[in-house]
Amino acid sequence: MAEDCIFCKIIKGDIPSTKVYEDDKMIAINDVAPAAPVHVLLMPKDHTANITTADPELVAYMLGKVKMIAEKTGIAEKGFRVVINTGDEGGQTVKHLHIHVIGGKALGWPPC
Ligand code: 5GP
Ligand code: ZN
Repeated sequence: MAEDCIFCKIIKGDIPSTKVYEDDKMIAINDVAPAAPVHVLLMPKDHTANITTADPELVAYMLGKVKMIAEKTGIAEKGFRVVINTGDEGGQTVKHLHIHVIGGKALGWPPC
């Protein structure tokens, strides 16, 4: 748990969230400001800043859950986007590693 980390507070239960999935290593929650009809955030329970600080096996574990999340939220068939914003120039606003799974409509590209 990192002080002043909003996602650590969500994981601890101090801030409410809508959980899509949970296990011993991670949770998946609905984004509070969804960019599309489906916008889920996957995050590890143990605080780590981003993909450069995380154990690669943990990142692989979480990516391995994306298919299940996409199927559970009904976006697997039509397609969706997986995003890991990293650091300031990568647009990461919450410095607790998270994977965005976004879908439910046709998405534009590039995002910048
Ligand atoms: P980032 O820009 O760091 O890649 O993404 C952070 C995401 O966290 C944003 O999409 C933002 O809407 C979401 N977010 C920020 N605060 C909260 C919160 O308190 N609850 C939930 N569910 N999502 C949040
Ligand atoms: Zn945290």
